[in-house]
Amino acid sequence: MAAGELVGIIAAAGTGERLGMGTPKALVACAGRQLVEWSVAPLAEACDRVIVALPPPAAGEPGRSLGAAVEVVAGGRSRSESVVAAVRVAPGAEGYVIQDAARPLVTSELVERCIAGLAGGWDAAVAAAPVIDTVKEVAEDGRVLRTLERSALWAVQTPQAFRGEALRRALDVGADRLAAATDDAALVEAAGGRVRVVRAPAENVKVTSRVDLATAEALLAARGEAAC
Ligand code: C5P
Repeated sequence: MAAGELVGIIAAAGTGERLGMGTPKALVACAGRQLVEWSVAPLAEACDRVIVALPPPAAGEPGRSLGAAVEVVAGGRSRSESVVAAVRVAPGAEGYVIQDAARPLVTSELVERCIAGLAGGWDAAVAAAPVIDTVKEVAEDGRVLRTLERSALWAVQTPQAFRGEALRRALDVGADRLAAATDDAALVEAAGGRVRVVRAPAENVKVTSRVDLATAEALLAARGEAAC
């Protein structure tokens, strides 16, 4: 990628209802830090700026525990609207790396590999892992409609690196389309962009439930990075 500004964005807003801890998920304690804090250093090492989209009430506070180098914006109602709010603060970037606060095991090495994955004219290079379970499409009543061919299926994660112009064009859609998107790469695909996967290590887990939180804490401890 050319030498323009590279901006890291951490999606850390939303309520985290599925975790059910009464606190927005990104602010929940994990291995001695708030979940969101684990993503800051890996992004800061690879990017010129880091912008964090926090739940609106917390966004007013300067991201104290996040470090002075981090800029904080109020997130939106959906994940993609939170990303739009962060992109608005850095509208001329050459590239963006988007990271979910829900993935505290991210490393600067994985961020760098996603950025490097843009070489060759790709619009997005996204962390992903081959699917290990057999995946079936199921109707609302539980009836199996079909079994998908597993060898071609990848589960997509973050970090996701984007060519700046491609991401901005992809995000330029209505709130309904933004709300329906579970990741930003899907919006780039829908806009006709070229998206590729970058194989992520098995540790790059996502915290959705309490079981995931315990798993993430154990993995951070095993890596010797737990902060308490
Ligand atoms: O809810 P889920 O775990 O899929 O959210 C993925 C990421 O998007 C989380 O890190 C969460 O903090 C973030 N998010 C956001 N704004 C929202 C909803 C979720 O930044 N409105």
